[in-house]
Amino acid sequence: AIPLVIAISTAISARAGILVKDRLALERMRQVDAVLFDKTGTLTVGRPAVSGVAVASSSLGEDELLAVAAAAERDSEHPLARAIVAAASARGPVPAGSDFRSLTGKGVRAVVDGAEVAVGGPGLLRDLDLSVPSSVSDRVGEWAAAGSTVLYVVRSGAVLGALALADEIRPESREAVALLRDEGVHTVMITGDARNVAESVAAKVGIDEVFAEVLPEDKDAAVTSLQSRGLTAAMVGDGVNDAPALARADVGIAIGAGTDVAVESAGVVLASDDPRGVVSARVLSQASYRKMV
Ligand code: ADP
Ligand code: MG
Repeated sequence: AIPLVIAISTAISARAGILVKDRLALERMRQVDAVLFDKTGTLTVGRPAVSGVAVASSSLGEDELLAVAAAAERDSEHPLARAIVAAASARGPVPAGSDFRSLTGKGVRAVVDGAEVAVGGPGLLRDLDLSVPSSVSDRVGEWAAAGSTVLYVVRSGAVLGALALADEIRPESREAVALLRDEGVHTVMITGDARNVAESVAAKVGIDEVFAEVLPEDKDAAVTSLQSRGLTAAMVGDGVNDAPALARADVGIAIGAGTDVAVESAGVVLASDDPRGVVSARVLSQASYRKMV
């Protein structure tokens, strides 16, 4: 027979939309004292849209800048790429590109009209030894301070301009973080995005600590670093990138419409993409296991 406490907690979890894949993970959830949230797609909706275009020199139009960027992004499945292609297509034809290469966690490169084009964040500029043109630095600073992702478009070694991509913060994120903090849980956000962008989103959501500009292959090391501080860490994520960190965490929690890989690596899966499900999972763990120790 199934122990009554497990039967009851299974019924409660089903109602709350919490799929428990690993009962030990749920049991550990009540001891969690740090929760690491992925930014994009977890605390935010994960559907960015182009919200700003800044050309570095007046010899190039905004539509032309977008078209060059979109030509380089055509082959990428990344949500940032999809947003750029959509915005450019709405304004005119997008030229073909060739020799596409993805620079994981940094951007893309391709050949467009015979010229080498790269699109990516500040990490890409650093790798190319380029700096932000002074003609766009004010706008770029405003975008990042507002929490928008900033991408640069580089052609033949020159920065042509910058794009802002805005992604909505989920309306429930702030409450989820506040509820955890009320319980004394340390809240952390991790992202591949730039530090100033990440700090802005973290401030809006009420997050305590930020890991920014983290390459996909280093996300699990962030979990390890929290654990080495003696914290029992849950990781909440949705993406392929998040899978190793979900597996590494004391409790891996995949959110809503997460990718299959994320769901496979998690011990707990939230049916909806509401981050408050993390709080429910903690309450469920406390209710299920309190009397069993
Ligand atoms: P996240 O942690 O937000 O899911 P990623 O690891 O997917 O982020 O990407 C991190 C950063 O790499 C982005 O903020 C962006 O600067 C850059 N980047 C990734 N993919 C692309 C792309 N297709 N085009 C331009 N920049 C990209
Ligand atoms: Mg994500």
